[in-house]
Amino acid sequence: MADIIKLLPDHVANQIAAGEVVQRPASVVKELLENAIDAGADLIKLIVKDGGKTLIQVVDNGVGMSGTDARLSFERHATSKISCAEDLFNLETKGFRGEALASIAAIAHVDMQTRTENSEVGSHIKIEGSKIVSQEVVASPKGTSISVKNLFFNIPARRNFLKSNQVELRHITDEFHRVALVHPQIEFHFYNNGSEIFNLPISKLRQRIAHVFGSRMKDRLVPVGEETEVVKISGFVCKPEFAKKSRGEQFFFANNRFIKSPYLHHAVVAAFEGLIKSDTYPGYFLYLEVDPASIDINIHPTKTEVKFDDENTLYAILRSTIKHSLGQFNVAPILDFEHDPNMDTPYAYKEKAAVIPQVSVDPSFNPFQQTDNKSVGRTVYHKTDVKGWENLYESLKISLDTNDFSSVEIESETGVQGTFYADDTDETPAAVTFQLRRKYVVSTIKSGMLVINQNRAHERVLFEKFLGEITVKEGVSQQLLFPLELPFSHQERVILKEIKESLSNVGFMFETLDEETVKVTGVPLSIVESGIGTVLDRLISDYKEGFDSNGISQAELLAKTLAKNLAVKTGEVLDQESQMALVNDLFACKEPSLSPFQKITYTIISEGDIEKKLN
Ligand code: ADP
Ligand code: MG
Repeated sequence: MADIIKLLPDHVANQIAAGEVVQRPASVVKELLENAIDAGADLIKLIVKDGGKTLIQVVDNGVGMSGTDARLSFERHATSKISCAEDLFNLETKGFRGEALASIAAIAHVDMQTRTENSEVGSHIKIEGSKIVSQEVVASPKGTSISVKNLFFNIPARRNFLKSNQVELRHITDEFHRVALVHPQIEFHFYNNGSEIFNLPISKLRQRIAHVFGSRMKDRLVPVGEETEVVKISGFVCKPEFAKKSRGEQFFFANNRFIKSPYLHHAVVAAFEGLIKSDTYPGYFLYLEVDPASIDINIHPTKTEVKFDDENTLYAILRSTIKHSLGQFNVAPILDFEHDPNMDTPYAYKEKAAVIPQVSVDPSFNPFQQTDNKSVGRTVYHKTDVKGWENLYESLKISLDTNDFSSVEIESETGVQGTFYADDTDETPAAVTFQLRRKYVVSTIKSGMLVINQNRAHERVLFEKFLGEITVKEGVSQQLLFPLELPFSHQERVILKEIKESLSNVGFMFETLDEETVKVTGVPLSIVESGIGTVLDRLISDYKEGFDSNGISQAELLAKTLAKNLAVKTGEVLDQESQMALVNDLFACKEPSLSPFQKITYTIISEGDIEKKLN
């Protein structure tokens, strides 16, 4: 057989490597920003158009490159940053693989202008799909400007795979944050489609964080600091009361590089133990400095995964350092654990006119009087405990609006048909509900027992309600007597703006006051005032995360998010009326059997099942 192995031509190899390095516009942004920082710049501009699909440009005032270097920089494994394997364990720079520019040039139109301090003229290189199209001498400022246009122009599959401009911009912003947060000594400007969205002057770290995330951050930060032989820790954690339901403001940097470390994250969470509720996450900006020899970042080309030599020690130090800071700043004891503003939202039936439960007691009613001949002679359990029985029967006779109820046909996943109590008209209406472990609402139906998961059921109800309101714009808004002014970061305000119309359809009325503040003037009926901030916060972060899910409309996503955040939770007590209303509303839904998150909302335990069990 003839030899069949061939070496791949460079441009093919580059394209393959590019797949690793460049997943989306944000990856290009990261590489270019890092190069600018490695070049010693103290002023960096990032310019993007259309979520980076049309243009990503980074302009720096760093050391620049000579004409030869400029050309060489696009070769694979061309780097000025390491020269031997040992250097790998002594990295002081962000880049070291020498792959980024080669990869980017393989899949985009790249235009670079660069000049070093000592040379009179600069060079201008154009490369398209790894081929140098032109190189000429030009007059240019000191430093480097690289434009990357038409990303993935030669890999249509990749290009099609990109998300909407908004989503790509969000990824770019995340990368920008990660870089900007480690280099407060560098001035950054970030322009999107011609308008400046970040202007970060040289400042101290605390200021930088506030510039990035909004000035409300300033009062939330508790400084953290510790220096040991193994590690130097600095930065901030957010006060426990600002812990959020969603992740977002959690940053670890190791030797000035953004890293992800579930293990160290755990250490932080452990330090907050007892101070925050278990389903919330503390915010933090933590900077670790370790001996470069003790850290291996060479695990993945995107370089956010790292390996520390002595992780256990690091964990212990980190945890105790944060604990100490929290204690020192006396942020511990003021918390009220029992109180979650969200829990203030009862299963809201404020839309409906309040019905005063009418209790009509039939004085001649005797619960033990048998009208049914078949059951004569049946033993009655605890005959003496009449009080309890009385209560039970009284609650049964509370006149409830069971009209919609009586006719509802339901079908369980097991195919069992059930009908809400509509039989035997001579009986007391027997649609009883009760709550089980503050998680389920149980109700009797003709063919057995209906068990509803209260949280999922309410999510379904709210989802359909909000979806309807968003589409037909009929949500009712309750005007706030005193409009609330809430601070939001730039990115949060961008998101709020995106979803403003849909939000106003469901009753959220707000306007942007200034650079930082949003004024809320009206909210949906189902929200209590104290929970507005939390709900909006969660809405924004859920929306931000959810936007990545493909093929789902804004209306649907928003309805889901609202439903998730406003639905009654497991653990909440529902009064009798709310239980009934929930059952009613659930079966008035178009798709009662599944929550908007595709979880089963109810199950039916048929009489047959029960009989089998009791046999
Ligand atoms: P790496 O950063 O891993 O070395 P890159 O492909 O990102 O690899 O860059 C290749 C080389 O090009 C760098 O080592 C550096 O010498 C040079 N270079 C890239 N960007 C810049 C810049 N903005 N300013 C000066 N030199 C740069
Ligand atoms: Mg680089």
